[in-house]
Formats: sequence, C-alpha cells, structure tokens
Amino acid sequence: MVNTTFAVDMLRRKFGDAVQENVPLAPYTSARIGGPADVLLKVKSADELADVMQLIWEHDLPFYILGGGSNVLVSDKGFRGVVVLNRAKEVRFEMGDQPQVWCEAGVVIANLAKRCASKGLAGFEWSVAVPGTIGGAVYGNAGAFGGDMTHNLIWAEMLTKNGRERFTLDQMGYGYRTSVLKRGDVQGIVLSALLKLKNSTKEEVSVKIEQFSERRKATQPPGASMGSMFKNPEGDHAGRLIESAGLKGTRIGNAEISTVHGNFFINHGKTKAEDIRALIALVQKTVSEKFNVKLELEVELIGD
Ligand SMILES: Cc1cc2nc3c(=O)[nH]c(=O)nc-3n(C[C@H](O)[C@H](O)[C@H](O)COP(=O)(O)OP(=O)(O)OC[C@H]3O[C@@H](n4cnc5c(N)ncnc54)[C@H](O)[C@@H]3O)c2cc1C
Repeated sequence: MVNTTFAVDMLRRKFGDAVQENVPLAPYTSARIGGPADVLLKVKSADELADVMQLIWEHDLPFYILGGGSNVLVSDKGFRGVVVLNRAKEVRFEMGDQPQVWCEAGVVIANLAKRCASKGLAGFEWSVAVPGTIGGAVYGNAGAFGGDMTHNLIWAEMLTKNGRERFTLDQMGYGYRTSVLKRGDVQGIVLSALLKLKNSTKEEVSVKIEQFSERRKATQPPGASMGSMFKNPEGDHAGRLIESAGLKGTRIGNAEISTVHGNFFINHGKTKAEDIRALIALVQKTVSEKFNVKLELEVELIGD
C-alpha cells in the first residue's frame, strides 16, 4: 500500500507544484491509454531526476520512470505510486574531428536527429522515426533502419543506489532491443548520455532523414499505438505470424489489430487497456495453436 498523502507531502516540500495527484496517464503515452497515477512528478533536469529518485529510494516508494510512454501499456486502474515524467532536455554539441552530443535523458530522440541534421552531423538519422526519449532508447537499445544505440552510445550517466556512475557501451550489455537495465540486471535510471556522431553536410543528413521518415510513413499504420506489440521470435516476424493467423483487422471494443501491420494495435478512441489485453491474449493463443510459437510482449505493462 502506498501512503499517498505522505508521498505527496514529502515530495511537495522539495518539488512544490510539480507534484500532482491522481493524474490520468493516457495523455503521456503514445497509445493514449491508461488510468491515473497516484502521484505524477514532472522533472525538467537530470539533477532534478536524480534528486527525486534519491527521495523515492530513501522512502521505498513504488515508482515508474516515464519518458515518451511509447513502449508501455498502462492499465485502466493506473499506477499505485509515483510516476516520474522525465522532461530533462538539455543538449550540448561538441564539434570537431570526432563530433559528439551530450543530452539529458528526456530529450526526444527524433528531435535530436533533426538537430544533428541541422548541424551537418551524421550517424543518428535512424532515430528520426522512433518515438520516445533518449532514456527510453538507452534502456531498450532502440533502433531502426540498421542503426541502434550501440552505434552511437559512448556512455550513459546512470543513477543507481550507489550514486552516479558512467556506464560505457560494453557495460550496457546490449542485445537486440535489450540491455542490462531492461533485463533487470542493473537497477538504474538514465540521467544523460554521450553519443558519437560523424561529420557530414546538412544536405546529406537531411536527405537521409527525409527518406527514413517517408519509409516509415509508407510502412507503419497511422493512429495511436504502442509500436510493435510483440518481440520477433527467432528467425521470424511477429507481424507475419499474426497476419498468417488471419488476425489483422480483429477488433475488441475500440482496439484493433492494424490492417496495415499485424504487430501494431491501434486505439481508435477511448480504448480500454483491458481491450488491448484481450487482443494480446487472443493473438498469443491463436499463434501458439496455429504455429506452436509463443509470442512474448515487447511492450511493458504498467499497473494492475
Ligand atoms: C509508432 C511507434 C513506432 C515505434 N518504432 C520503434 C522502432 O522503430 N524501433 C524501436 O526500437 N522502438 C520503436 N518503438 C518503441 C519505442 O519508441 C521505443 O521503445 C522507445 O525507445 C521508448 O522510449 P520512451 O521514452 O517512450 O520510453 P517509455 O515508453 O516511456 O518507457 C519504456 C521503458 O523505458 C524506461 N525508461 C524510460 N526512461 C528512462 C530513464 N531515463 N531511465 C531508466 N529507464 C527509463 C521506462 O521505465 C520503461 O521501462 C515504436 C513505438 C511506437 C509507438
């Protein structure tokens, strides 16, 4: 049980009005789904994020760090505890022979890709069509179009219960869309990251960004979603299996398995998390029965 009054009073003493009670989480997710958090605290710098976390750990409060909310499904009942909404957005470029960018974890990665382009810096174009923040991308080794965080990360500044620490690329233990954080091997909060880039020209980088954006628009369904619902099983694609099982277009309430891409579940308006969960169960059962494949969730479930 969370003592909400205690948590709110304690956090308000340090963070004032940034601490809100009983806040619906749907607007903070790409799927636009989810009930309220007992407490929502928006942080605007990495230092603030670190300060909040010290207090949360000190008082052993249940918490969830939310970046862009683009890889999560929040339950209809919401989250009992403190949701820390990361909006720490400082960015510093270091130009030179080996250009780099340091950014706080709340920076939206697609915006960073565009800022790199405007400076003629290449290497991060892949991220232009990936929703979410640097923190979420470092956590899950986000990637697209053959790029991912392993191609860019020099180090991530992490807060663990031992304090602040720089995790090098090797220490992140990256694999396909996974890391030491995502596997739960390390309990850490990403505060900021240093990324490597390459010198190029504004024109060249912008053309690539434009091409990636167009390719995304042509292949991905429009509408509110959580991106890929399931991990691709070894040697196959979740979307292909769902399509072969004849499930594209299946609808429960206002939730639909996209007719464009079987691994995307679309919220057609006021969809309940419960309906998405029912679709998840249906897909897992059908694909298991038809192809003997157990589809694992890519998306994280939050709350009861
Ligand atoms: C339309 C669509 C397309 C997508 N396409 C892609 C794609 O091409 N490639 C891809 O990799 N992903 C894709 N995704 C998934 C999503 O964009 C990525 O997983 C993204 O990196 C999530 O970032 P986020 O900030 O939204 O994280 P959130 O969804 O907010 O959180 C995801 C996880 O990261 C943790 N987290 C967030 N910030 C921090 C932090 N600072 N410190 C520690 N943990 C943190 C959260 O606690 C949570 O466990 C897509 C999603 C959508 C909706």
